[in-house]
Amino acid sequence: MKTAIVIGAGIGGLATALRLHKQGFKVQVFEKNHYAGGKLHAIDQEGYRFDLGPSLFTLPRLMDDLLDLFPNSQVAFSYKAKEIACHYFWEDGTVFKASTDTSEFVKTAATTFSEDQSTIATYLRKSKKKYQLTKSLFLEKSLHKASTYLSIDTVKALINAPFLGISNTLDQENQVFKNPKLTQLFNRYATYNGSSPYQTPGIMSMIPHLELGLGTYYPHGGMHRISQSLFELGQEVGIEFRFRESVTQINHNKKKVTAVTTENGSYKADLVVSNMDIYPTYKKLIRDVKAPEKTLEQERSSSALIFYWGIDSTFPDLELHNILFSEEYKKEFEHIFEHKTLSEDPTVYINITSKESPEDAPKGHENWFVMINAPGDYGQDWGKLVTQSKERIVQKIKKCLQVDITDHIKTEYILTPQGIESNTSSYRGALYGAASNNKFAAFLRHPNFNNKIKNLYHVGGSVHPGGGIPLCLLSAQITSDLISKTSL
Ligand code: FAD
Repeated sequence: MKTAIVIGAGIGGLATALRLHKQGFKVQVFEKNHYAGGKLHAIDQEGYRFDLGPSLFTLPRLMDDLLDLFPNSQVAFSYKAKEIACHYFWEDGTVFKASTDTSEFVKTAATTFSEDQSTIATYLRKSKKKYQLTKSLFLEKSLHKASTYLSIDTVKALINAPFLGISNTLDQENQVFKNPKLTQLFNRYATYNGSSPYQTPGIMSMIPHLELGLGTYYPHGGMHRISQSLFELGQEVGIEFRFRESVTQINHNKKKVTAVTTENGSYKADLVVSNMDIYPTYKKLIRDVKAPEKTLEQERSSSALIFYWGIDSTFPDLELHNILFSEEYKKEFEHIFEHKTLSEDPTVYINITSKESPEDAPKGHENWFVMINAPGDYGQDWGKLVTQSKERIVQKIKKCLQVDITDHIKTEYILTPQGIESNTSSYRGALYGAASNNKFAAFLRHPNFNNKIKNLYHVGGSVHPGGGIPLCLLSAQITSDLISKTSL
């Protein structure tokens, strides 16, 4: 039996381990933490449960596809579709509930923002078309194999390139709206891959289709069920998980991988897949290999500063996903990407899973995940930034929701970009690997295979096709497809 070692039990590593098991490999997963899931982890604090990382679940079909490979499994994973994608608030009292029903969205957005229905409907139609034209090329295949460029889907995508808006920024693309609030709302989708709307190409206007067209979902039991169900399935089928065992080196004989070394010893393997961020993979695990510096030096995606608050009250006006918008959106991104600091007027995202899972907070209470976008860790004084940001967030909540939240905070846990890096080895604490702040970003991501060492592969948010749960699941799919076509 051929043996495969997966380094890291993030969503990308877990999905790859399962797919390789299905292909007949004997699989071992080495994980430096005591738990599986990487960024998809959760904590319990004095009666409140918090998902620590992702909160938005899209393209659930990718989880279904993976779980369907194991029809006899006893592992339970289910989810529900959300009618409201997000609840938006502005300081002037404007509120908007974004429906996942397209005609309802168009109607209410036209009324709320005094915009023509046809402008909004055309924008959403274009978003869908862009997604359909590009998903096959950018999301479902290796961008680094000649065969990708020979398929009919690729040819179609390239022919339609001008329509895709690659030479515009997302913000320029979104100037079709008369009301700047609607431009801001659609600009926000740049943050779904950790980029700036004022730099990322207009093609990113396909992202709203993912959320509004294909829908947004909530896994029963919370986001943590995504990683937990894959871990449980891995245990059920006999994948070996070795927790608290950090890999320190990938061994190779200049041509092929041979083994990995951990703090405890050396383990032979026919194949190694690294789910560790690509930057430390080169800098720590294969230091003897010339690194692709241009790829590694790509600007990193944004990170986040998150307050997990146990709140002793309930807020009927809030939904599962809520956004309290900045009055100076452009400045906010300049702070993050140019000055590597935090804006005085941040956009505040509040996620409350107890709206869907009441057991996540004591009766009459709520569990607030309060996040602002942040630059990566470049040695800033995070202690000072945390104190400043908390005050700014409290002010924003006061202005948008007319409530002083300070007295309602009963428990607090804080995660900074430094904390995200130390938990997951994600370089600079980036949420999504490299940013997509230029039009070549997709092509500059590291491939899913290593072209210097045979049988070494790379999976997860820092490599092709990019970060976020759906893309990490696709990354595992592309990687295992490549492996299935290789003779070891
Ligand atoms: P990771 O989750 O980073 O896992 C890598 C694993 O490898 C870790 O467990 C780490 O401990 C382990 N490891 C690293 N080095 C070693 C080593 N040497 N030896 C052994 N083990 C090692 N995505 C969405 O889709 N929707 C969202 O709403 C969303 N919001 C987010 C909010 C936050 C706060 C964060 C942090 C992320 C968010 N994301 C979101 C992004 C998403 O979480 C990630 O893209 C995805 O989880 C990354 O998975 P991964 O498999 O690449 O790696």
